[in-house]
Amino acid sequence: MNVVVCVKQTPDSAAKIAVENGQVTWDAGLVLNPWDEYAVEEAIRLKEKHGGKATALCLGPESAKEALKTCVAMGCDEAILIADPVLDGSDALATAYVLALAIQKVGAVDVALFGKQAIDGDTGLVPIAVARRLGWAPLTYTVQIAEIDAGAKTIKALRTLEQGKQVVTAKLPAVVGTVKEINEPRYPSFMGIRKAAKANIAVWKAADLGADAARVGTAGSAVRWPSIYPLPAREGAVELLDGSPEEAAAKLADKLIAEKVI
Ligand SMILES: Cc1cc2nc3c(=O)[nH]c(=O)nc-3n(C[C@H](O)[C@H](O)[C@H](O)COP(=O)(O)OP(=O)(O)OC[C@H]3O[C@@H](n4cnc5c(N)ncnc54)[C@H](O)[C@@H]3O)c2cc1C
Repeated sequence: MNVVVCVKQTPDSAAKIAVENGQVTWDAGLVLNPWDEYAVEEAIRLKEKHGGKATALCLGPESAKEALKTCVAMGCDEAILIADPVLDGSDALATAYVLALAIQKVGAVDVALFGKQAIDGDTGLVPIAVARRLGWAPLTYTVQIAEIDAGAKTIKALRTLEQGKQVVTAKLPAVVGTVKEINEPRYPSFMGIRKAAKANIAVWKAADLGADAARVGTAGSAVRWPSIYPLPAREGAVELLDGSPEEAAAKLADKLIAEKVI
């Protein structure tokens, strides 16, 4: 089983995000996108169950090697960074174009795993767009990979929907988007951390993938972010109503009527 897991490096979810002059800044470090930890865990479990290899793949700056090292420390066999200034400013569709080319370059991939969404960009578009580019089945919101028949090259998965669960089957190769109920991500082991520290992370450029320059970066993106701004601080006040429960309830009712809430 040849598994690729696509991961993004994002600001820590505990970071305070600020926007100044259209620039986004944060006060904490960069981490492996929290949603992607579940995809990494699933990639490692598939490899452990079926044999083969799990490769982590990231499009990002040099610093994103740290997120890839986390994947190796957890148990991925290899990690590849796609880093090239010509890719800066890529929107979700351009990102998906590049990732699809990289998955093809890895070659003979059976399953490409993804997180639910990136906690910074937040579009949730990348997995589905990669599937479209590759012409593979997109199994998004997967809560369980119930069965993989490596011989017959089929997958059976359970998808979680608002109304319930859905069992789906598809031919491999397939794109599988994960949700957090799928597993409990492991902590990197001591041996894993040592392995990651010494890991040789391959760096691929756009030209290595044969990417069309017109389809990547700002020029190749359909979406522009001309401005970005924080929401105004929420205004609110707390008023404690005194008296017995009956008196407080009567005062509350008067106030709600005065505010035309009821
Ligand atoms: C500071 C900032 C500025 C930005 N500026 C612009 C802009 O000017 N114009 C614009 O169009 N967009 C901009 N973006 C959005 C950015 O291009 C997207 O974040 C990116 O294309 C991926 O979309 P997403 O983050 O919504 O991923 P999602 O679709 O939410 O991610 C879903 C899953 O896809 C995988 N994935 C996503 N990204 C990657 C990746 N890079 N490598 C590997 N796997 C990945 C992960 O498994 C992830 O869980 C900006 C983002 C940030 C944080």
